[in-house]
Amino acid sequence: MAITRRIDTCKAFARLLVPLAMLSGSAAAEDTPLAGAEEPGRTWHGPATAAAEAAAKQAEKEALVPPLPKPAERPADAQTAKAADPAPAAPAKAKDATPAKAEPAEKADKKAGKDKEKDNDKPKKPVLTAKQLFGTVKSGAPLAARAVGWYSKGCLAGGKPIAVDGPGWQVMRLSRNRNWGHPDLVALVERLARETTKAKEWPGLLVGDMSQPRGGPMISGHASHQVGLDADIWLTPMPDRKLTRREREDMSAVSMLKNAGEVDPKAWGEGQVKLIKRAASYSKVERILVHPALKKALCEAAGTDRAWLSKVRPYFGHYYHFHVRIGCPSGSSNCQSQPSVPGGDGCGAELTDWLKRVAPKPKQPPVAAKPPTKPAKPTPKKPELTLADLPADCRTVLAAGGNVPPTEPAVIVDKSKNAAPENDMTVRTAAPEPPKPEKTKDATAKASTN
Ligand SMILES: [Zn+2]
Repeated sequence: MAITRRIDTCKAFARLLVPLAMLSGSAAAEDTPLAGAEEPGRTWHGPATAAAEAAAKQAEKEALVPPLPKPAERPADAQTAKAADPAPAAPAKAKDATPAKAEPAEKADKKAGKDKEKDNDKPKKPVLTAKQLFGTVKSGAPLAARAVGWYSKGCLAGGKPIAVDGPGWQVMRLSRNRNWGHPDLVALVERLARETTKAKEWPGLLVGDMSQPRGGPMISGHASHQVGLDADIWLTPMPDRKLTRREREDMSAVSMLKNAGEVDPKAWGEGQVKLIKRAASYSKVERILVHPALKKALCEAAGTDRAWLSKVRPYFGHYYHFHVRIGCPSGSSNCQSQPSVPGGDGCGAELTDWLKRVAPKPKQPPVAAKPPTKPAKPTPKKPELTLADLPADCRTVLAAGGNVPPTEPAVIVDKSKNAAPENDMTVRTAAPEPPKPEKTKDATAKASTN
């Protein structure tokens, strides 16, 4: 039996009026989606390069992740259904055709014309991207905890936030509301904070982006972090005082690099090595992503105990923070596992290759001016993920607890300070930004308390 749920449209509309200022923006700088050579098609993050984009395209063709079946069920929320999957107009047509018998032909024609006009007047609902739908949910899905789908194409049920302050950690960029994760991830970050500070290896964690309350794609930045199993931990040591909310928005992370191939000894040291080693030692952690120069430094510092290095994977970006990824937790039957890391410490040919990839390109000698040619066709932008692209279970996750997703695109602004440069390939230390005008500050403060 089909059940049609009445939607309180007023309520839905009112939600749209609420300023949706949170997250995004600067996260784009931290982690830009792309697929690397490590696992083509698996979108980690880092800046786009021509080579990596080509790899990503190739990987898409290879379709490592099988296309998801079309959801069999209509979502409970009729508004969502309309937005994501416009229904065919066939039934209305059939209805118009039947009553012609009783009415004179002219009258019937007029009526048909009016109906048509009515249809044309109806505003067409825009199809919201999955980013819009998941980026605006403020609370977790009150369901049993489970990671749904793939790290860069999925969502999170039963996610919980890590406390903004805890023994040995502080969460940064609170306005983004990205401190959510699968309970297993939250427990793991807490454990890392507890153990690493207790052992006096590290002064405490500055926790960067985890996931949105219900996971899903983010308005900007990360391609992964969608299923509540990824966490970014800053490589900057935690100060020995409680940071204010404002400081957590504005404070810059520190680059660990001197140049594309070497760490900066002024920033990088024993503490970072011990912190990453401890994180890699946890059995739930499947991968840790760091910049190739950081991996090189870890290889050099490891000594004879090298088994943990296999989980530490070189990748673009990741010299302001490292990325911890755990495997599919038990009870997450729809969670798609990643292939295991190759054996060995990964300090040989693979690392050399990665260092070449991130090395600055030598300057090309000036080329004689060519006669003007036809401008190259711009590469079509990859279409944004919609709800229909995500596993069917993500509809349930989105609608759980009576959540009414927006029906129109909202402007979502991240006012927090960039934690990494725009271009992860360019090595530079984050410099303080000029002071912001008072107006922006107010808006940010508001956003961070929303
Ligand atoms: Zn990350």
